[in-house]
Amino acid sequence: MESIIAPAHYSLLGIPLVLLAIAIPLVGIALWVYIMAKRVAPLVRARADERFDNIPKRILMVVKIWLLQWRQPRYMMAGVLHIIIFFGFLSLALRSSMLVFIGVAPNFALPGLGEHQIGGMIYNVIKDYAGTFVFFACMIASVRRGIFRPERYEVPERFGKNHNAEAVFVLMIISTLMLSESMYESSAVAAAAITTGETHFLAPGTLAWFFRNVFMDTPVEKLQAIHVATYFIHDFTFFFFLCFLPLGKHFHVITSIFNVFFMRLRRGNIKPPVYGLTDEEIENLDSIGVKKLDDFTWKHILDFYTCADCGRCADQCPAATVGRPLIPRFITIRGRDAIFKHYPLSGDITSCDNVIGDVFEADEIWSCTTCGACEEECPLGIEYIDKMVDMRRGLVDNGEVPQTLQKPLQQLSKKGNAWGKGPKKRADWIKIFDDEPVKILDGETTADTLFFVDSISSYDDRMQKITQATVRILRKAGIDFGILGKEEKDSGNEVLRFGEELLFRALREHNIEMIKKSGVKRIVTADPHAFNALKNDYPDLDIPVEHISQVVARSIKTGALKLKPAEDASKVYTYHDPCYLGRHNGVYDAPRDAINSIPQVRTSEMMRSKDRSFCCSGGGLMLFYEPEEEERMGALRVKMAAKAGASVIVTACPFCMVNMEDAIKVTNMEDRMEAIDFVELIEQHLA
Ligand code: SF4
Ligand code: SF4
Repeated sequence: MESIIAPAHYSLLGIPLVLLAIAIPLVGIALWVYIMAKRVAPLVRARADERFDNIPKRILMVVKIWLLQWRQPRYMMAGVLHIIIFFGFLSLALRSSMLVFIGVAPNFALPGLGEHQIGGMIYNVIKDYAGTFVFFACMIASVRRGIFRPERYEVPERFGKNHNAEAVFVLMIISTLMLSESMYESSAVAAAAITTGETHFLAPGTLAWFFRNVFMDTPVEKLQAIHVATYFIHDFTFFFFLCFLPLGKHFHVITSIFNVFFMRLRRGNIKPPVYGLTDEEIENLDSIGVKKLDDFTWKHILDFYTCADCGRCADQCPAATVGRPLIPRFITIRGRDAIFKHYPLSGDITSCDNVIGDVFEADEIWSCTTCGACEEECPLGIEYIDKMVDMRRGLVDNGEVPQTLQKPLQQLSKKGNAWGKGPKKRADWIKIFDDEPVKILDGETTADTLFFVDSISSYDDRMQKITQATVRILRKAGIDFGILGKEEKDSGNEVLRFGEELLFRALREHNIEMIKKSGVKRIVTADPHAFNALKNDYPDLDIPVEHISQVVARSIKTGALKLKPAEDASKVYTYHDPCYLGRHNGVYDAPRDAINSIPQVRTSEMMRSKDRSFCCSGGGLMLFYEPEEEERMGALRVKMAAKAGASVIVTACPFCMVNMEDAIKVTNMEDRMEAIDFVELIEQHLA
């Protein structure tokens, strides 16, 4: 398009603008490298994290979660807008990069993308539509952020001002990039058409097409000015944006691909306090857990950098929902603010020796139930549980444990269970089977399967009924099993998540020794917490572990268990997914399949089910913790069940059962809601 002078050949007041076209990228890149070096510094000083395993799976996660934006549509409106902006931005980034070179060499094009090459023509159509979609998506997103914003974007007063202005500002920057690129192109096309009659194809309905039509009546001198001005506006905005990204929440534009690549691949487990140390070395550490800012691992700091402030984690977090002091989004945002403050862009790095107190409050950290809803939801692979546990380790190491949790912890240390009952009483519940005794596996008496009972199901009167029902089901299914009796200790699932690392390791060592001595080939448990610990936190165990619901579902399929029709046709059952069975271990179908195998059973699903299940508050020693909250999680869950039209909540976890039964009483719903454990329901319907 010779009819207009390219910016590279244009002079203003005798100054060749090519100098500006060279200066803007040079200054922009130098500034960006400087800022990024400052941002990388805390990552280098942070603790190690092992995130380089299973590279093929990590690449797959990048393709699925980052490139294909897999989790975005979980929030449909925001998700679709984000996908449009993301893909449009990716396509336009190529054009913006080419424009940098075009400022010096007007005919520059990447190989295959020349103006008259087929690749270039296709690309031009794609980028023109992409730019148009992005522009309109930005407009809608700005109105949504600025005026009709969902509640999850709000910021409670104690956490300072909201980030809506920054969000809208960035949307405006992106819109400026789209507009300037379209005007730059269309001004040249219009000038060519006016001066030479030469026509250039512009994709109909795009911004470039629209501006070309508008410019057809514009004098060529004005088009020349628009052409040059929009080029430099685009160039400047592009580099300004690049340098602006690492300064706030839009850092995720740069870091998200790395954060997703390094995200947690295994679920259910907890990172060790320090990677690569033996139990003995961990025991001899001077300090355990996160106390200083530098005690976080580099992945945790990368998490801080990557938060897009979308509020989805908080929206799903049960602690935030019931008004506990914890809102996960602000753990990440305040973590980032602290890193920015102590690693400033100019000036010296300063230390932050008390993460709890200076950055976070202890109440926030104890409020987490480790349910995993936040991690399931975050579209950028940001993690919370490991950080919470690491900070709890630090608090426990400093002796800063909440009052209500001190006693159960002492009992755990002394007696191996939080209820403070002696090991001899652990198997008292088997007395009702005296006619046909339950085997105690001591190495001499052996069995194919170990029924790992765990503490709550051994000592709590109500839970013992579930344990006894489990025995009857296992027998009916023809499974050769036994228990460890007094040699079983707490699985330690809550102990580990509470931050009592050394105690957990002692419990684990003992249990592994006893399980191996028993000679079993498989383990079954009715407690998802025990299931999770044995499966994910006992890496040296190497014996398959199943939850009773998996055994039951399989036994129904093989015909080993037969069920009779539903006892009461008026009852509507709804299944509540326990976090440590569902989200942490992906067991969603087995319990549902088994329940639905009861002939004529009536069931209903709650809105929040499967991977969006709502925690009952049983995790992480929460049965003993009394946090500040507006409503109990269990109470809210029971209301959700009622809303789903259910009259019976089926749980598959003793901790859930405690909370559900309690919640039914608290909400005065005894006349219209009851709770039953999965094994009790199955036992009731054994044919
Ligand atoms: S693990 Fe659960 S309770 Fe803890 S921050 Fe995440 S969503 Fe909230
Ligand atoms: S942690 Fe993830 S889900 Fe939560 S606000 Fe940040 S980006 Fe959104």
